Amino acid sequence: MTSNYKQISPELARHIRLVMADVDGTLTDEDGSESPSACEAVRQLEQCGITVGFVSGRHLSNLEALAQQLDISGPIIAENGGVAKLKPDSEILNLGYSREPALKELNRIKQLFPGAIREREDNAERLVDVVFFINGIAHKVVQEQLRDIQYYDSGYVLHLMERGISKGRTLLRLLNEIGYQGLSSTDTVVIGDSPTDISLFELFPYSVLIPNPRLTNEQRQAVQRVARYTSDLHCGDGFTEVANYIATLRDC
Ligand SMILES: [Mg+2]
Repeated sequence: MTSNYKQISPELARHIRLVMADVDGTLTDEDGSESPSACEAVRQLEQCGITVGFVSGRHLSNLEALAQQLDISGPIIAENGGVAKLKPDSEILNLGYSREPALKELNRIKQLFPGAIREREDNAERLVDVVFFINGIAHKVVQEQLRDIQYYDSGYVLHLMERGISKGRTLLRLLNEIGYQGLSSTDTVVIGDSPTDISLFELFPYSVLIPNPRLTNEQRQAVQRVARYTSDLHCGDGFTEVANYIATLRDC
């Protein structure tokens, strides 16, 4: 059960050292464009002494460009946990994940449903997951044919990825295995809007759900079940109000 973000205590707000933000539906407006107020709120958090990182389904070079634009200093986790860097200008970490299972399943469903599976243009840039759209048949029909693979619907595009990879697990590996800045999950706030963020909400005690009107009722219920806090406003406006609230509690 989620609480309103105003239940975030002053103690928690002062304790936070890392905010990991999803991008689409979290730092964007409802039309998908970057939210100017959310971008400003990211800068404000960094000025308040909180390291900000991204944890998104976007591919790495897209997130690197956004990181540079917003001047964030934290980790970048791309492809829903498949690819990660500790800082925008550092090397890609070797997490041991493979793209083979996703490519194999993509090719299999293309053969099963000729003409219905359309790869998105940015697949060529991806290292671990594959992104595609389904045309003309119910998603469920395709989903039922998938074997031994993870399937995500971000609300924007569909993803296939090797089992066991998730945003939450990769962020936890950065903290626990790699020892990112000596931080633990309780120093971290994770913020997201969709089912691709459920692993973050489950593995991190301080999570904020930003409501996204694109979600189905079923998806909305699934994310609400696991998030700790929720904003009142949608998308980038929701992120902005939460970040502003945290900044106010920190007197900065
Ligand atoms: Mg999202």
